Amino acid sequence: MALVVQKYGGSSVGTVERIQAVAQRVKRTVDAGHRVVVVVSAMGKTTDGLVKLANEISSSPNRREMDMLLSTGEQVTIALLSMALQELGQPAISLTGAQVGIVTEAEHTRARILRIETDRLNCHLQEGKVVVVAGFQGISSSDQLEITTLGRGGSDTSAVALAAALKADYCEIYTDVPGILTTDPRIVPEAQLMPEITSDEMLELASLGAKVLHPRAVEIARNFGVPLVVRSSWTDEPGTWVRSPVPTPRSLEGLELTRAVDAVEFDPDQAKVSLLRVPDRPGVAARLFGEIASQDLNVDLIIQSIHEGNTNDIAFTVVKASSKQAEAVASAIIPALCGGTTPTDAEVMVEQNIAKVAIAGAGMIGRPGVAAQMFSTLAAAGVNIQMISTSEVKVSCVVDADACDRALAALCEAFEVNTSPVQQGVGGETANLDTPVLDPKLHPPAQPPVRGVALDLKQARLAIRQIPDRPGMAAKVFQLLANRNISVDMIIQSQRCRVVQGLATRDIAFTVAQMDAEMARQVLEQAAAELGCGEIVVDTAIAKVSIVGSGMVDHPGVAAQMFAALAQHQINIQMIATSEIKVSCVVAEADGARALQVVHAAFDLAGTEKIQVPA
Ligand code: ASP
Ligand code: MG
Repeated sequence: MALVVQKYGGSSVGTVERIQAVAQRVKRTVDAGHRVVVVVSAMGKTTDGLVKLANEISSSPNRREMDMLLSTGEQVTIALLSMALQELGQPAISLTGAQVGIVTEAEHTRARILRIETDRLNCHLQEGKVVVVAGFQGISSSDQLEITTLGRGGSDTSAVALAAALKADYCEIYTDVPGILTTDPRIVPEAQLMPEITSDEMLELASLGAKVLHPRAVEIARNFGVPLVVRSSWTDEPGTWVRSPVPTPRSLEGLELTRAVDAVEFDPDQAKVSLLRVPDRPGVAARLFGEIASQDLNVDLIIQSIHEGNTNDIAFTVVKASSKQAEAVASAIIPALCGGTTPTDAEVMVEQNIAKVAIAGAGMIGRPGVAAQMFSTLAAAGVNIQMISTSEVKVSCVVDADACDRALAALCEAFEVNTSPVQQGVGGETANLDTPVLDPKLHPPAQPPVRGVALDLKQARLAIRQIPDRPGMAAKVFQLLANRNISVDMIIQSQRCRVVQGLATRDIAFTVAQMDAEMARQVLEQAAAELGCGEIVVDTAIAKVSIVGSGMVDHPGVAAQMFAALAQHQINIQMIATSEIKVSCVVAEADGARALQVVHAAFDLAGTEKIQVPA
């Protein structure tokens, strides 16, 4: 007998018939001997409808009143579902967030959960009732007992938080898709269902998976080790399990008040190899990293900056012991990359005395100031940043080796965490290998090098030319953007140093959401004189294609395989950024969909079954 939390999204409870079907499914779970807590969303598009009504009255409705309004949607569903269960002879009771005691911050329309009272829930469960809880809502902890909501899509968060608080055996998220797919089936019809994914991979795929599973819910599942499955409410298919490593025990108090950063990592054993001024055409990165992989050299960070004129700079890090070999490979291949003749200005540079420092944490999703805080912390400690590479949940910087200790001490203090050496093998132990409906044949323990492929067409690229190369510049830039609440996605700092009026300068390129691009440009242009930088260049016609997989940590050549797939189809790569479990490439917008298709095919992710997803 297990304790199960089931969450049903809007489409699963969109009509009376659907609510009756949900009641049947809940009853079947009870009949199988389990205790069940159900969390529901508002019916269908109810919440959208309520938002629309509010906007007809006010263009900036009061946030408290917004919460009063939006929380009503879920209250309709809980009552109807309880009635439907009672009709089936299944004792049930509906409870609002306040009645349960889902205590949140007093932040209207985006409250985070502080704690969940479990007494009343346990009492009703003991009586043999199914408890139907309104998702997306809570009650503030002040004396005022204000109704709050968690932000759009928040009932996933309610469900996983309830599962954590109740120490449920697992949490099922029922939706209108069969689970989490390897990519977007509207662009790649061969997209296939993943039987499982790790929570770290899921977070890196936030742009692909966020519609199916809210990142805040994934973060709670990871922090508390809640086994989580995403399944269709229309079928009995097993869906996709989201697996988390065994968590370090943590208190249920301040449940969602996690830090933005939960680890500061370092790796002093890296060397940096840079190729400067290589031609900007398809196939260059593929050749280079193909050759590196064929020598069995495992590359860690890779960055490629935007081009100036018609050349690119590519830099990567390898373990120190491999740097000589990597340099030899890179030097040998330069003539081939440059089309047979070595132009005088292409060159290879190796820097032995470097270290990688990184901050990691799911809490940085949606918090624009975190990268800026890292850069300003390093600046305040007098540490110059040589290379920056970012992913959804990690920011990595290459710094001078002798600044490593100083950098770490400053970062640990700023983010109030301890350091750990860079994770090796992100896969490892998982907490929930014995959860139900697992067929060992379908679930081999090895992590596939690439689990999923994502396309983001909603980004724009900004480049700041010739920014002085001294501590504090990246901090200034990204703080300016954070002040305007602009989230920066990929950040790349180029390798090339250019001396402008006696001053060493570099270029910094980054991507932001397209809708923020114009504001970002204005902010930076206003600050250009103070920053002492050159031109600000904006390109909105870009696409970002990413591969994600925990298994790439111990598979050399995964990035090379991605670059090769793009090269074979004559797709030029403009920017590259990597983390341990992710490689992202920026390509021209017009190449985006094709890039997604060819990369998906290159990693054999195609399935034979056609996955139906609602429009
Ligand atoms: N009903 C809310 C929304 O539409 C919460 C949810 O469904 O997750 O955003
Ligand atoms: Mg949802």
